[in-house]
Amino acid sequence: MRKPIIAANWKMYKTFEEAKDFIKAVRYNIPDFDAVEAVVCASPVFLRKLVSKSKESHLRIGAQNMHFEDQGAFTGEVSPVQLKDLGVDYVIIGHSERREMFNETDETVNKKMHAAFKHGILPIMCCGETLAQREAGETFSWVEGQVLAGLAGLSTEQLQETVIAYEPIWAIGTGKTATAADANEVCGHIRGVIAKEYGQEIADVIRIQYGGSVKPDNIVELMSEEHIDGALVGGASLVAESYLALLAGAVPNA
Ligand code: PGA
Repeated sequence: MRKPIIAANWKMYKTFEEAKDFIKAVRYNIPDFDAVEAVVCASPVFLRKLVSKSKESHLRIGAQNMHFEDQGAFTGEVSPVQLKDLGVDYVIIGHSERREMFNETDETVNKKMHAAFKHGILPIMCCGETLAQREAGETFSWVEGQVLAGLAGLSTEQLQETVIAYEPIWAIGTGKTATAADANEVCGHIRGVIAKEYGQEIADVIRIQYGGSVKPDNIVELMSEEHIDGALVGGASLVAESYLALLAGAVPNA
């Protein structure tokens, strides 16, 4: 049984005061922490404070990116060693905004995956196609390539702990959600690719989220699909009530 995971991706939003208010409103109100895992991925400037504010709760804190090197002359970057020092549990890797705007490649994604595990941070690895690729019928092959390249060289244990976020780029921040059936089809394809490459046992436990305009009013339908184990949520994760509604909607048989 895969435990659903709802991860907020706050992107470059919120001041520290706003972030603090959100954590206060959410931390002791997670609907059923045995049934759903709750993660908030925030700006690195206030991660330490968010980690300490959620320490006694079941809320997990994550980063949205990191460099793959432990340290070095990389002006403006944040290292996995620094993130670990802040106490984060998760890191988003290879989000499409980073791939499109900050030169993230399958190769850097793979290096970051290894770096995250090396330092005990769990990665949420993103993949997804553009609208042009979907219309050209290239979704499966494109996503398959991203997933296999990103996971290359990971151990069995690391693969089992990996979270994959399937996020069709045309659905991110656009209000256009993939239908639950379409999202499930691609998530199922990803699971099949993993089964073929690494075996059914790993494919059965690896968690695959859907992301792209997920909201409280479509979470239940998405979560009812066989291969969707949670969501990576941008816009609808910024308001505490909305995030709590997403968590509630992700509890099995809610
Ligand atoms: P959205 O963003 O929920 O605002 O579409 C999702 C994401 O970018 O992870």
